[in-house]
Amino acid sequence: MGTKKMGWLDFLKGSSLGIDLGTANTLVFKKGEGIVLREPSIVAMTKNSRRVIATGNEAKRMLGKTPEKMVAVMPLRDGVIADFEAAEKMLETFLRRALGNNSWIRPRVVIGIPSGITQVERRAVRDVAFRVRAKEIYMVEQAMAAAIGAGLPVEEPTGSMIVDIGGGTTDVAVISLAGVVRSKTIRIAGNEMDEAIVNYLKNKYNLLIGERTAEHIKIELGNAIEPEEPREMEIKGRDLSEGLPRNVIITDRDVKEALNPVINTIIKAIKETLEDTPPELSADILESGIVITGGGSLLRNLDKRISQETKLPVERARDPLSSVVLGVGKILDNLHLLKRVSVR
Ligand code: ADP
Ligand code: MG
Repeated sequence: MGTKKMGWLDFLKGSSLGIDLGTANTLVFKKGEGIVLREPSIVAMTKNSRRVIATGNEAKRMLGKTPEKMVAVMPLRDGVIADFEAAEKMLETFLRRALGNNSWIRPRVVIGIPSGITQVERRAVRDVAFRVRAKEIYMVEQAMAAAIGAGLPVEEPTGSMIVDIGGGTTDVAVISLAGVVRSKTIRIAGNEMDEAIVNYLKNKYNLLIGERTAEHIKIELGNAIEPEEPREMEIKGRDLSEGLPRNVIITDRDVKEALNPVINTIIKAIKETLEDTPPELSADILESGIVITGGGSLLRNLDKRISQETKLPVERARDPLSSVVLGVGKILDNLHLLKRVSVR
């Protein structure tokens, strides 16, 4: 990251950081610079003494390959802070990385938090931010941040629907007048798609694969509707009866079939939220449609499938992996909006 010379005014004002604390990826936006950090939300630690060995990208490369004395922890796995200590260490490392040489600066921090997190967890996030010397901390629900990042008219008296499909959770929210009017969070998203692929291969081919391979298959062959031209891929895993490494050819039809139950669950959550939405806002959504975002929204034809089943227009955000952090980035510059949308 380039170290930009700071003016005196910047010096007096301090810097501001926007953080997307995602279950799969953490991103940091620095005022005046843009996105300065994008790393997997993973910490590799020793099992007993819980000493941190690696954080982020480096830790992800170790996933499924750690020796017995080590563990790779995803502290936010299901949208809640499943491992406080690991979450703290991770956030601390990322914030220091993002601040770089300027780690003596006391930044204003805006954090996008998962909608499902409890008050205790919120306090934990706040404590970590203070420990790395933040001077002010604001928290914004990720669904709201994603909507702002995707350019939805959140402050207008009109209903907008955002569906954020991340790693651990899918957040469905209806927003109007800078508030979340209806929302639903389910712990079914990208990770569940990977697990569905693991289970499918276990049952159909008697083959065991790791999570990272499953994610790779999902990204390469995944499809939310019946694929037109068949594509296939050779994958390596371990035969469950013989216990030996083996190759299998799988097709995009297989993957479509494996992913279908997960996709249906996501669509069900969308429909339930729509059914629960006040009629005036439903009328708006009928016109403006649904915006999908988050890494899971990158699944091929997911927009088309949701549109078929809800009979509403569906659009994918321009940069789904960055919507939340771009949203908190926009809020950094807008104190008025910040005060309106942040949670106490
Ligand atoms: P979070 O906000 O929970 O950190 P992200 O929005 O970063 O999650 O999305 C991560 C999820 O997106 C992962 O499950 C990842 O496998 C999935 N993902 C990333 N790219 C694709 C793709 N091209 N197709 C399908 N899923 C994808
Ligand atoms: Mg997210």
